[in-house]
Amino acid sequence: METILIKTDPSSPGEAEISRAADIIRNGGLVIFPTETVYGIGGDATDPESAKKIYAAKGRPSDNPLIIHIASPEEAEGYAVTCPLYYRLARAFMPGPITVILEKKDIIPFEVTGGLATVAVRCPSHPVANMLIRLSGVPVAAPSANVSGRPSATDAATALSDFDGKVDCLIDGGDAEFGLESTIVKITGDDSLLLLRPGAVTADALRCVCSDVKISDTVERAVGEGERPVCPGMKYRHYAPAKPLALVGGTKKERLEFFLRAAENENCVFICYDEQAPFLPRERTISLGSEKDLLSQGHLLFSALRHADVLPGERIYANLPPRKGLGLALRNRLIRAAAHTVVNAKEKLK
Ligand code: AMP
Ligand code: MG
Repeated sequence: METILIKTDPSSPGEAEISRAADIIRNGGLVIFPTETVYGIGGDATDPESAKKIYAAKGRPSDNPLIIHIASPEEAEGYAVTCPLYYRLARAFMPGPITVILEKKDIIPFEVTGGLATVAVRCPSHPVANMLIRLSGVPVAAPSANVSGRPSATDAATALSDFDGKVDCLIDGGDAEFGLESTIVKITGDDSLLLLRPGAVTADALRCVCSDVKISDTVERAVGEGERPVCPGMKYRHYAPAKPLALVGGTKKERLEFFLRAAENENCVFICYDEQAPFLPRERTISLGSEKDLLSQGHLLFSALRHADVLPGERIYANLPPRKGLGLALRNRLIRAAAHTVVNAKEKLK
């Protein structure tokens, strides 16, 4: 199939051009579109055949459920069982980078939820995503626009490199703002939440709205063989570059010393911070921005993981991010990308 390309102004998209893409979704086709988190590959969330097409295009296991995207928080009523805590989250964070797991209504087919009785609901703030969903007139099921297991696409060119000829349409709306997928929470009681996937809405921000926020241990732990994970995507290798990646933990000084030694003795690529970059070989180094600037790190992480694959070097080293604030989301993505390979700089320097 030929993929139709639509280029649009991300802040004020034209209704006529987005209508074209919305028609494709309504007629059972697939459209890649920008959101404030990452690019999504979308289809009609009420149509089992569209869901099957999404899984096929991504090569995604069909028990890994899709998030459904709506144009306003109240639209969740049509597809899921809401509650007061859902609306408290909606008032605080929607539209925006948060996904809430709710009990599903019959209109959402099990093909979309990977056989689960619950559905993940998100209301994106990106003007293009919002207009596309509104004009489609249906909820849009949309996982990240990457071949399953690869780093998520945060710009149109990267999404196109994975999906040219495999989807009906791609809307180019520039770079995704956050660059990390949405925060996912499950409502577990009147005033309690389980954080399943960290994102730009941090655990501390959630605690301003809900007094009991627990963090699922699967955010950092590997899910065991045969175990049914609370957040199904967790059992799969994710976000991974083709080269082996190891994360380096330790103090600032220890990590820099480790990198300097590796630069001398190993054929490796570095994904590092601005503070470290001047000391490392330029042709093998990618910086995510300042060590203090977690927003920049989130914005650049997935493109850095893809870029590292094309630089000369057999393996990749990156810093292990802290657990605090947005650091937890960066840490979660990197731990999965590294298949849990973490080295302690101090131990290795002995
Ligand atoms: P992606 O669409 O690639 O951002 O990934 C969607 C992720 O949302 C899945 O991998 C799951 O981890 C999570 N998810 C979606 N639906 C559910 C659900 N009903 N229950 C728990 N987690 C879900
Ligand atoms: Mg994904």
